[in-house]
Amino acid sequence: MRKIIRNAIQCKHCGDTIESVNVHDYVTCSCVACGVDDGQDYLRRSYKKSPEEDFSDLSEYADISPCTPGEMLKEEFLIPRKVSLLSLMLKTDIPGYELETVMDGTGRIDKNMADQLADYFNNTSEFWMNLQKLFDEDKMKLQKG
Ligand SMILES: [Zn+2]
Repeated sequence: MRKIIRNAIQCKHCGDTIESVNVHDYVTCSCVACGVDDGQDYLRRSYKKSPEEDFSDLSEYADISPCTPGEMLKEEFLIPRKVSLLSLMLKTDIPGYELETVMDGTGRIDKNMADQLADYFNNTSEFWMNLQKLFDEDKMKLQKG
């Protein structure tokens, strides 16, 4: 996942560098040929003719690390349902040490755990396997840079 850390352009007509710092921050250059808006939420641009002719983009992004399946389990399932890790262990056949490694991000959700979680949370095993798969893919992308 990418996050905008700088929303800025340089006008090709007047040479001004303008930056939008927050969502309600609409800034134009001194010749008013172009403008930036929406801060770090979205790279909104205004320009006269076309982005290519009117400005150079100086925006910067940062890759933010993906949520681990354990974090998702905690934030999206355990906390909203007020289920403790211990009661999850007791009410499913997931071995405690396996659950703990998934929670601290070192372990993986395997087929057995996905089945157990699906039973307990009344969703599908695929959902949990997919969570693990998406995380693995994100992590691989980040490592490649
Ligand atoms: Zn300008």
